Amino acid sequence: MVLAQLGGSISHTLQQMSNATIIDEKVLSDCLNEISRALLQADVQYKMVHDMQSNIKRIVNFDDLAAGHNKLGIIQQVDFIQQAIFNELCKMLDPGKPSFTPKKGKTSVIMFVGLQGSGKTTTCTQYAYYHQRKGWKPALVCVDTFRAFCQLNQNATKAKIPFYGRYTESDPVKIAAEGVERFKKENCDLIIVDTCGRHKQEAALFEEMRQVSEAMKPDLVIFVMDGSIGQAAFDQAQAFKQSVAVGAVIVTKMDGHAKGGGALSAVAATKSPVIFIGTGEHMDEFEVFDVKPFVSRLLGMGDWFGFTPRHMYEQFQNILEMGRIDQVLSMLPGFSAESMPKGHEKESQAKIKRYITMMDSMTDAELDSTSTKLMNEARTELRPNDHEKESQAKIKRYITMMDSMTDAELDSTSTKLMNEARI
Ligand code: GDP
Repeated sequence: MVLAQLGGSISHTLQQMSNATIIDEKVLSDCLNEISRALLQADVQYKMVHDMQSNIKRIVNFDDLAAGHNKLGIIQQVDFIQQAIFNELCKMLDPGKPSFTPKKGKTSVIMFVGLQGSGKTTTCTQYAYYHQRKGWKPALVCVDTFRAFCQLNQNATKAKIPFYGRYTESDPVKIAAEGVERFKKENCDLIIVDTCGRHKQEAALFEEMRQVSEAMKPDLVIFVMDGSIGQAAFDQAQAFKQSVAVGAVIVTKMDGHAKGGGALSAVAATKSPVIFIGTGEHMDEFEVFDVKPFVSRLLGMGDWFGFTPRHMYEQFQNILEMGRIDQVLSMLPGFSAESMPKGHEKESQAKIKRYITMMDSMTDAELDSTSTKLMNEARTELRPNDHEKESQAKIKRYITMMDSMTDAELDSTSTKLMNEARI
């Protein structure tokens, strides 16, 4: 998917910056211009890219860097800038919690809206199936046309999820009200309503959708968006948000050629978070969306957020045995699938072995923690361009830094305070 290319070009730009002999305003500007170009190519809205640039320039104060961090090497300055970019991208994708979070065992009505072809009907089933596997009691209501009626009915039957729809009835408001009423009586805790879709953003569709929403009073409206629609995403999402109270977004077709930047635009237009992404048309090709691991992978910073180091340790060993070096490397900080030089498998293998050795020296607590900030800073600084000596010096510097820590800081798994104070 094109997002991976975006990640590749951003991490490539950051790597180039780490080769600079000095980081000044020009070097940062050049780097930010490159990153902005990559974001625009991935269909991120111009205004968002521009805001991100100005925010980062404001955060990275060169006087401060020179005065307070003059002992830091170039690599650490790049890390500082990378962290600023990471935070800005996370901010763009994280407008806060959805307007409502359903609770197992308590009835919630969730209304799905989106254009025809966006993947709305597929997503309704995937959302229902995801919750059913976690012990919820979901139900599906279809107020859409004959085509969607058949499709949703088939999907529901396959997944053994109760379904309500009437293709002889043409009033969507009536069907929605009947369906919701029936499943409330049956004590379903997640009543999912698939609304009508249209090819275009027609006024009639929005009016009908508004009426269905008024009649049903859903607890949450989810806007479903095709991840490959590009720059059109902002206007489309905004049009839906103006008609109904969109509280969350699901982006579909992230397995295909989706540029993904549309997801950022939808978040900006609806001020609602992406909660899931669709990665295929099958029932289980549906993933919870987490901002930090997503951006982390995007920047080639590795997959540290989702896994504990022990998971990675086991995966490294498995994949090493299977010889899938490319897979392992894209999970490591500082690497991306695109930045991987072909024909360097031996070097790559040596690098992985180094990671495994590093992990061998970890405590059980470190291996099982999902909060790896402390560990990231101390142990995972090995970048493709680092020289061994620099890395060693860096590790020594971190050890010195840790020597000055209080017991509370050393024992805490939340390293926020420490990060802010010391990095
Ligand atoms: P709706 O008109 O918005 O209800 O869209 P559908 O659910 O009918 O989906 C439109 C087409 O996209 C169908 O052919 C689906 O199988 C396909 N589709 C939906 N979600 C995904 C996805 O995440 N990945 C891929 N590759 N195809 C998808």
